[in-house]
Amino acid sequence: MLDLKIVNGKIIDVENKKIIEGDIGIKDGVITATGNVSSEAAFIIDAKGNHVSPGFIDIHMHEEDFSLTQKMEYDIADTMLNMGVTTCAVGNCGNNRQSIEELYEFINEKGNPVNYMSYIGHNYLRNVAGNTDIYMKSSKNQIEKMQSLVKKAIDFGAIGVSYGLEYCPGIDTEEAIEITKEIQGRDDLLLAAHYRKDAIYALDAIEEMALIGRECRIPFQISHLSSCSAYGNMTEALKLIENIVNSGADLLVDAYPYAAFSTFIGSAVFDEGCFELWNKSYDSIMLTEDPFKGMFCDRELFEKARKEYPNMLAVAYVMNENEIIQALNHPLVMIASDGIYRNHSGHPRGAGTFPRVIGHYVRDEKKMEFFDAIYKMTYMPAKRLKLKRKGLIKEGYDADITIFNYDAIIDKATFQDPQVRPDGIDYVILGGKTAVAEGKTINNTLGTFYRRGEA
Ligand SMILES: [Zn+2]
Repeated sequence: MLDLKIVNGKIIDVENKKIIEGDIGIKDGVITATGNVSSEAAFIIDAKGNHVSPGFIDIHMHEEDFSLTQKMEYDIADTMLNMGVTTCAVGNCGNNRQSIEELYEFINEKGNPVNYMSYIGHNYLRNVAGNTDIYMKSSKNQIEKMQSLVKKAIDFGAIGVSYGLEYCPGIDTEEAIEITKEIQGRDDLLLAAHYRKDAIYALDAIEEMALIGRECRIPFQISHLSSCSAYGNMTEALKLIENIVNSGADLLVDAYPYAAFSTFIGSAVFDEGCFELWNKSYDSIMLTEDPFKGMFCDRELFEKARKEYPNMLAVAYVMNENEIIQALNHPLVMIASDGIYRNHSGHPRGAGTFPRVIGHYVRDEKKMEFFDAIYKMTYMPAKRLKLKRKGLIKEGYDADITIFNYDAIIDKATFQDPQVRPDGIDYVILGGKTAVAEGKTINNTLGTFYRRGEA
């Protein structure tokens, strides 16, 4: 007797790029049969001819800050689940929003809408080690402290180390390498970095990341390439990455499917010279809060907002969409959301990335190939995260499954309303149990925190 059977599905065979019409049998959280499954099951889901996909895997997002949510609610794990994600890598861009131990304990006690695994963030450790000045290089003592904290986090089960090079000018390449002293040469780990500088500086930034990976002898993941190089530099950036990979480096990339980023209008990102760098003007910046909600800037409004409302979120429509599409289609690039929220505000990518790729770029715009897109959001990140039983619908694999309606799937989150649930995600199954049914969340506690190697 099976625990669950999914019938009448268009099962996506990611490896062989084909659809298998049929059923899936699930027992004890594991897929035990696919195709024509005759065994009885305690529970049956009729997929009604919809696509049955491995649960989406988000290799780059940012967990909630439980000091803001008072540990009462989730700020992003819910929106991940709503868009069909079943497993995420958190702690990216050098930033843990609380210690990994705290996150682990919380999820162990309360459950989580999706499965989490975590990097240990360099920028976070700098604070722990006592270097709170982002412009200052860390002292020898602080670096030694970080070396042992990195080791401790890895021993606890972190998947690797993440860097936020742009956020912290005090980090030089040497420091980035030195903090990994205790873990160098381990190919069971992963380094990930938010590059140092974008646009015309992106090539130098990519070279630096490759150097860090090479010196540490650890596989390397370049984070959100789309916001780094979609300013007229994507062809060169991808070419450089190809060359580095061809020379033997274990280097891969992720990108999100939006041509705009969002940050505080007072941020250094908007300092003098930014428009020259992006080759854009004031009217590419939209303000998101009253009294300027929805207004695009001219010079006067831009300066007024920066001066009087520096903490207002602004949306910068400064990346070139054709370059985003170019990145998403490149064989070394997988799809990840880079989602992050603060008190439910932020960029819609945290609630729309995966449905947007399928509904907008595959179906409507025909800019991506269906199986390729699914591969980049399932099996490709699963392999990168060394998840041995995820990313495929196959006997013996974990029953993490997303059922979507291809005709209906589309992102609904916007820059004004960034957490709106997408259309077309009908069912999400985690470990053989139903988290989303008929487009509604029925259980948001099925996720777990995986220590490295546990999944
Ligand atoms: Zn980042």
